[in-house]
Amino acid sequence: MTTMNTGIDDQITDAEAGAEVPDPPLPKMHRQLHPVLKGHVEIEHVTVEFKDNVVAVKEASLEVKPGEFVCLLGPSGCGKSTLLNCVAGFVKPTVGSVKLDGARVTKPGPDRGMVFQQHSLFPWKTVKDNVAFGPLMAQQGKHTADKVARTLLGMVGLSAYENSFPGVLSGGMKQRVGIARALANYPNVLLMDEPFGALDAQTRAMMQENLLQIWGEFGITVIFVTHDIDEAVFLADRIIVMSASPGRLIADIKVDLPRPRAAEVVSNEHYIATKRRCMDLIRAESLRAFAQQDDRA
Ligand code: ADP
Ligand code: MG
Repeated sequence: MTTMNTGIDDQITDAEAGAEVPDPPLPKMHRQLHPVLKGHVEIEHVTVEFKDNVVAVKEASLEVKPGEFVCLLGPSGCGKSTLLNCVAGFVKPTVGSVKLDGARVTKPGPDRGMVFQQHSLFPWKTVKDNVAFGPLMAQQGKHTADKVARTLLGMVGLSAYENSFPGVLSGGMKQRVGIARALANYPNVLLMDEPFGALDAQTRAMMQENLLQIWGEFGITVIFVTHDIDEAVFLADRIIVMSASPGRLIADIKVDLPRPRAAEVVSNEHYIATKRRCMDLIRAESLRAFAQQDDRA
């Protein structure tokens, strides 16, 4: 979440004055050992209407179980970001509500981490300080915040760059810092808005595998927005397909592929069938959108 730079990272807490500070709690590693209990998202009859009668999302209802990996798939402009932003608390539904673990979402909060398509790192802070920023804002103290940052940078494979500034990193590396930063407050839900959309195919594939590994270790709910069908099938437990604008949820497709998933999964029969089904739905939607544009012209 974007927050103002307050210079809080220069403060030294009591704990840091002493020599030994206990390690920060690690995220709940290995979902197989610990059932995921938090990160239950309920989207109930959400309609979002912007000014000039632009209806971005229409009557969307969706339940995401704790620990699930759900992809929101749909053509450009169909309302994916708007719906995700309702969960993030950046956009208030015109009608309906979003609940997280039973509590109504009214604003952004540390229980939700967000990763955008374009990185939103502070260019004047080092990689480590970018990741440590969230825990510092949550009054964790510099020692703990740094430890959390180092742990997460290790998970995204960027330990060697902790003292670098974002400007020298490649696009993929910046997004990895963005993921580490979004996880630094150990949120229950990770919201990702086309985070790999601007990356080349090889980098994107590596990022997807790394993300699945992190998700496997963290025990966290992920809602991942994409217009890329392969990406959705590779990543998701469930794919929610959205219609062309105004965005409605038109299909809920279970992806029954074994995990951990690797590149070879693309030749799996179920992968191919799921991809086909998504392609047919998206194609029908794109044609409908085209026809609508023609009608308006
Ligand atoms: P997607 O992420 O699927 O590409 P968006 O959620 O960004 O789609 O946008 C859905 C529709 O809502 C589009 O027609 C877009 O122009 C419109 N829209 C999005 N945000 C705003 C806003 N803040 N004000 C007005 N219209 C908006
Ligand atoms: Mg979008």
